[in-house]
Amino acid sequence: MSNPDQRFLRLEKLGEGTYATVYKGKNRMTGEIVALKEMHLDSEEGAPSTAIREISLMKELKHPNIVRLHDVIHTENKLMLVFEYMDQDLKKYMDSAGRQNHGALDPIVIKSFMYQLLKGIAYCHDNRVLHRDLKPQNLLINKRGELKLGDFGLARAFGIPVNTFSNEVVTLWYRAPDVLLGSRSYSTSIDIWSAGCIMAEMYTGRPLFPGTTNEDQLLKIFRLMGTPTEATWPTVSQFTEYRKNFPVYPAQTIAQILPMIDVYGMDLLNRMLQYQPHLRISAKDALNHYYFNEVRGWEQNGYQVAPFG
Ligand code: ADP
Ligand code: MG
Repeated sequence: MSNPDQRFLRLEKLGEGTYATVYKGKNRMTGEIVALKEMHLDSEEGAPSTAIREISLMKELKHPNIVRLHDVIHTENKLMLVFEYMDQDLKKYMDSAGRQNHGALDPIVIKSFMYQLLKGIAYCHDNRVLHRDLKPQNLLINKRGELKLGDFGLARAFGIPVNTFSNEVVTLWYRAPDVLLGSRSYSTSIDIWSAGCIMAEMYTGRPLFPGTTNEDQLLKIFRLMGTPTEATWPTVSQFTEYRKNFPVYPAQTIAQILPMIDVYGMDLLNRMLQYQPHLRISAKDALNHYYFNEVRGWEQNGYQVAPFG
């Protein structure tokens, strides 16, 4: 394939995601290293203009915890996004760094990552942008201990497909129960649910709710949190995917499966993993939680934990 743009030298492949193949790139003029994200588009139609508009809005999202979108290059049937380069995604990091510890990360690293994750989410929510597809693969980290959200706005621009272009199944593990039950009134609370699932996973090294289908995903959530009822979640029975004959599970305490989390972390996690969307803590309130006292202010002087080596 020819280079999509003369300005960049395309180097090795960094990864594949839901919508795109990502390459390391180098700006021929400045030598700056970037990530080049080549979007897979319907070859006939090219990029839909609504998607282009959505993506162009992402260029305005400028925050230390959002992967910076430098440029959108639209040529013929190709769409290439030029992003700030990051060293690794959180999934690969958990697979490697966490290995000595059965996949679990150091508690102070988790705290620092959660703080940054919530800062990025709070900024986007302030700007009325939802992520909708937060998962470890979409969180990028670098050697300075920084964590940034990638893929912001893409779900809105392109929708979340069932399969990736390379035919992998798109994961449901971080999807909020209201969305799984068929709710279409998406709100900021869906990103908070995902953040809670990611937090638990960093402590244990295992996904909290590794469901395989929409129904299985719901049942995995119910098994831990109890099957919701009109008493625990008023209006739950009105969702399109709700079944009267769901198996009835009692609620377990999440603390049981997370012995390594501190009491403040447990309190915060419980506030994020609420069934009722309006009861989930906001990103802004989460950042003020006592759990973050240890890391608050690190954004001024650098994140005091080295994620690599
Ligand atoms: P998609 O939107 O198609 O899901 P992603 O942005 O999630 O694509 O990228 C897929 C993978 O490519 C990521 O999981 C990560 O490993 C790598 N990647 C993406 N963006 C960057 C970046 N800015 N710097 C380094 N690697 C990246
Ligand atoms: Mg992705």
